[in-house]
Amino acid sequence: MSNPVLEISRDRFRRNIAAVRARLQPTELMLVMKDDAYGHGLDWSVPEAASAGVTWFGGYDIDTALRIRALTDRHVYAWATSVPAEIEAAIVAGIQLGIGSAAYLRDVIAAARRTGIRADVHLKIDTGLHRNGFRPDEWPQAVATAREAEHDGALRVVGVWSHLAEASDAEDDAAQRVFDDAVRHLTEAGGRPEVLHLTASAASWWRPELRGSLSRIGAFCYGVRSADGPVLDGISPIARLVASVDAVTPDAVIVGAGAFHGLPSTLRGTFAGTPGGPRRTLRIDGGSMHLEPWGGAEVGQRVVVFGPGDDGEQDATALAEHIDTVGEEIITRLTPAVRRIITD
Ligand SMILES: *Cc1c(COP(=O)(O)O)cnc(C)c1O
Repeated sequence: MSNPVLEISRDRFRRNIAAVRARLQPTELMLVMKDDAYGHGLDWSVPEAASAGVTWFGGYDIDTALRIRALTDRHVYAWATSVPAEIEAAIVAGIQLGIGSAAYLRDVIAAARRTGIRADVHLKIDTGLHRNGFRPDEWPQAVATAREAEHDGALRVVGVWSHLAEASDAEDDAAQRVFDDAVRHLTEAGGRPEVLHLTASAASWWRPELRGSLSRIGAFCYGVRSADGPVLDGISPIARLVASVDAVTPDAVIVGAGAFHGLPSTLRGTFAGTPGGPRRTLRIDGGSMHLEPWGGAEVGQRVVVFGPGDDGEQDATALAEHIDTVGEEIITRLTPAVRRIITD
């Protein structure tokens, strides 16, 4: 039995980043790197992105943000609520913190006072998603508390942010009005936020009028499309899962990539790239996938389970669509048994 390998292209990553930045400008990109850069690995991708011109990195949790900080001195942002010891470590490391509740705001101010270092924060207004964020009725109090802490040097409110539901354009438009009101309230109270960010991948791409000065984007930079979304100009998958033929039977070619490697066991019907052209996946079991046979199939032949399509394979998002999930899941679920190889 052989193990599959995830081949990741630096060049495609750089090209995706360039395409996203060109599409967004003058809005800046915040490259989101949660889940170990969506399963692609932080160690190579952070320096690569920094050298491609990325100036903002989003880590979600403080642990990820600290790992990013060890690799770059650009802006690093973490927005998951955390515990005092981690908050202090983040402040010491110059990580900017997203804050969406009164309790967390108190914790961050207290941590900043203990360290003696000013915390740079982005306040989150809940614009309708109801998933963390100050509600509009809580906003004036949050602003008052933050402004007070700014006065005694514990805090600096560098940003205002929110997350859109992306369920309908009308809802997102309404969310933008709530967002704008919150920013206005803060500036009237004397706040001077430098960055405003409301949109993630999809809305950043298709609704330029909703972008602020910064857009948080993950999936597209790794070449992962929105589920049921179109192929995007200049964007292609940076990862290709390569496996080899372990056995050939009259009914199926058996390839060494299965549920143990993190492939969804329910997956069937999508196309892998084979030396015989695209072949349908018949089923996935523990250690292998069974493909429709091709003439001349032999043990050891190379098969592309998913990737940019050069060998007739479908992309990770197409696999995800088949099992009703999002594209990033296919790659983030791959286990450590899958070796990552970074190529040019
Ligand atoms: C994950 C995440 C993003 C990036 O989303 P993509 O769809 O991958 O671009 C942006 N903002 C927040 C708050 C997130 O959690």
